[in-house]
Amino acid sequence: MKNIDFKGKKALVRVDFNVPLDKNFNITDDTRIRAALPTIQYILDNGGSAILMSHLGRPQKKDGTIDRENNTLQHIVPHLSELLGQPVKFCDETIGEKVEKMASELQPGEVLMLENTRFYAGEEKGDEEFSRQLAKLGDVYVNDAFGTAHRAHASTTIVAKFFPKDARGFGFLMDAEVANGNKVLNNPARPLTAILGGAKVSDKILLIEKMMDLVDNLIIGGAMAYTFFKAQGGHTGKSLVEEDRLDMALELLKKAKEKGVTFLLPEDSVIADNFANDANFKSAPSNEIPDGWMGLDIGEKAVTEFAKAIQHSKTILWNGPMGVFEMSNFANGTKSVAEAIAKATKNGAFSLVGGGDSVAAVNDMNLADDMSYVSTGGGAMLEFFEGKTLPGVAAIME
Ligand code: AMP
Repeated sequence: MKNIDFKGKKALVRVDFNVPLDKNFNITDDTRIRAALPTIQYILDNGGSAILMSHLGRPQKKDGTIDRENNTLQHIVPHLSELLGQPVKFCDETIGEKVEKMASELQPGEVLMLENTRFYAGEEKGDEEFSRQLAKLGDVYVNDAFGTAHRAHASTTIVAKFFPKDARGFGFLMDAEVANGNKVLNNPARPLTAILGGAKVSDKILLIEKMMDLVDNLIIGGAMAYTFFKAQGGHTGKSLVEEDRLDMALELLKKAKEKGVTFLLPEDSVIADNFANDANFKSAPSNEIPDGWMGLDIGEKAVTEFAKAIQHSKTILWNGPMGVFEMSNFANGTKSVAEAIAKATKNGAFSLVGGGDSVAAVNDMNLADDMSYVSTGGGAMLEFFEGKTLPGVAAIME
């Protein structure tokens, strides 16, 4: 983006303003909006005007109609105006004559927010004509929406080709995401440790495989761990296990051995007799969980072992909680891992945290500033670390 001369130009900027709203349409977490401000401000400070486009929610209903009321970007405008310290104009359409007129009248230093791109079927289809209509609005195109960079949608990807190479670029957020991600993927300081958690092995299989080629230590927590214990003949009670992934789990363990990767599973667990915060709970070895009980968090021994590996690491990637962290009785493992990463980071390690749940945990604990980088991307971040080319990134580079 720094190679683009914005003076007197209208910059069409794809941002990710897909923020959570409460039932009165108040923004409950404005992280994504704040993350886009440096890019917008830079354009304005350099004599340009900004035409912002984003999606919000899933407005296309099953019956083919559009839920406008709940998903209009109008909900975002007051807060965005406040954050930018200037009024933001809004158009209740995304393409067409009305927007074109408003865009053409936009003066340097002004900001125009367009209506939700997903109000149009052409957005998610990556429709050429819809993309062409969008492209008409700007002289240059900036993509700062890392959260949707894994989608080949019109406003995130296809639109880029209507701008010459010197008139399109990444915003600062996108740049930071890719640069920090590359610190893990390319020549990381070692030892490199990936900590993966969450519900399902099947969701993270590509990531686990990719990490196997890359890391020195692979730490697995969360419900995912029980599929590995069961596969090895352990007793997992009624823990969440993917029965159809047992062979795959054994394959992964074998692969780790072949590659010399230290594969750490939680030796013990906090087990409960019910999936509820008020359930009875106690500690047990993770491969000896009695019938009727389920593992909902990693145990004390696991916390100690994981923390030790984290302390010895120079590069750390964390995705996914260690347990049902939404319930206070099963949040200790996730909290302890977050604290261990914060400590390692203070001692000079590079740490990157990504994925909705781990980021939420880090934010809840006020530890975001203690991590080297907190990614704004969920699915995009996963695909990036799986080694896939993100269409939104490729469209700018090609
Ligand atoms: P994911 O979206 O795959 O990262 O999974 C996150 C979800 O996994 C969170 O909602 C956690 O509550 C859940 N989770 C983590 N550990 C467990 C566990 N041991 N049993 C059941 N659910 C879990």
